[in-house]
Amino acid sequence: MATPLRRATATVLVGGVPVGASHPVVVQSMTNTDTADVPRTVAQVAALAAAGSELVRITVNNDEAAAAVARVGDGLDRLGVTVPLIGDFHYNGHLLLTRYPECARALAKYRINPGNVGGKRHDEHFRAIIDVAMANGKPVRIGVNWGSLDQALLTDMMDRNAALVRPRDARDVMMEAMVESAIRSAAQAESAGMGRDQIILSAKVSGVQDLVDVYRMLAARGNYPLHLGLTEAGMGSKGIVASAAGLAILLQEGIGDTIRVSLTPRPGGDRTEEVLVAQQILQSLGLRSFTPQVTSCPGCGRTTSTFFQQMAEEIQDYLRAKMPLWKLERPGVESMRVAVMGCVVNGPGESKHANIGISLPGTFEDPKAPVYVDGRLVVTLKGERIVPEFLEILEEYVGSHYGAGRDGLGVPVAAIGV
Ligand code: SF4
Repeated sequence: MATPLRRATATVLVGGVPVGASHPVVVQSMTNTDTADVPRTVAQVAALAAAGSELVRITVNNDEAAAAVARVGDGLDRLGVTVPLIGDFHYNGHLLLTRYPECARALAKYRINPGNVGGKRHDEHFRAIIDVAMANGKPVRIGVNWGSLDQALLTDMMDRNAALVRPRDARDVMMEAMVESAIRSAAQAESAGMGRDQIILSAKVSGVQDLVDVYRMLAARGNYPLHLGLTEAGMGSKGIVASAAGLAILLQEGIGDTIRVSLTPRPGGDRTEEVLVAQQILQSLGLRSFTPQVTSCPGCGRTTSTFFQQMAEEIQDYLRAKMPLWKLERPGVESMRVAVMGCVVNGPGESKHANIGISLPGTFEDPKAPVYVDGRLVVTLKGERIVPEFLEILEEYVGSHYGAGRDGLGVPVAAIGV
């Protein structure tokens, strides 16, 4: 698969995780617990990290939350969770970061929203946050959001636009104001002494076309690494599809150095879903590999029984469940491709393109399931134990092809002199 070229940017180290330039696009997420509730926040950060989030943002909105940040960090240390924590500040970041120095130290990055830093005292409060960040050697994200855009800047730009002979569309002026807010704030941070390698920018909107436009403009205005995400993406398939559509266009153009998928969880739903979706977007684009990919057909009238659906699900679940162990013991397995197909129409063809594939008989055909390994038919399974027997073959394949000393083709590295 041809992978998109990345945009040339500075590299920002966030608690040891490099963001930008040719480094892998980083997956991040955000908790929805009350940060002052330390046990729940620790548990959720640990769950997000276990799901694969490489950075986790937490809300720091009041004294209680700021006072809890260091304890959240300690709790994670005790669990052996090393994921860097990012503090999300609005309105009072300058106060909290100066009042709670241990909070400022425990965080790996501060998110500042230039639209709500201090009103008339914007510059003074913004400067106070930048000073704390520099004193602690922490990078910042200057995160503009169209729901909280700097109103003074927007009004000024709208007024100037209205005075033009041919005023531009208000929507275009709004996009430009977002970019201007981010760029001006970055320039302000740099003139206060902050390095270009300490600044990440974002300009989040909730519409896909707006996202594409605003990030293209932002990317053209400097070499700052960009945090990419559709804000308030929504719930379920709407949020997933909208995020994937917007992020894919931009990532394909090399725009975006760290991503977050802002899904609204269902009541009691699993917060880690946003991490899995972000990973899947990157893996689908060929930008990163996180877990073996299962190619399965949708099924149709040729495979009306639920056996095919159950089999596809069991194999997918098996791969997911094995990944934490394989990640440690079988490096390279994340790029393995597995095909699970419903019948002989496309089954053998798709199976041959995968590392390992199985093709079921259609409903009305002989109950036989040919298994292909590296494009060759190796066995045809029959009877009740098709799935467990296929999983045994799969395990054997992983054992012989991935892991220390293997090159992913089943060749011991020593044998090829590497
Ligand atoms: S591979 Fe067979 S079962 Fe699957 S969608 Fe195609 S025709 Fe239907």
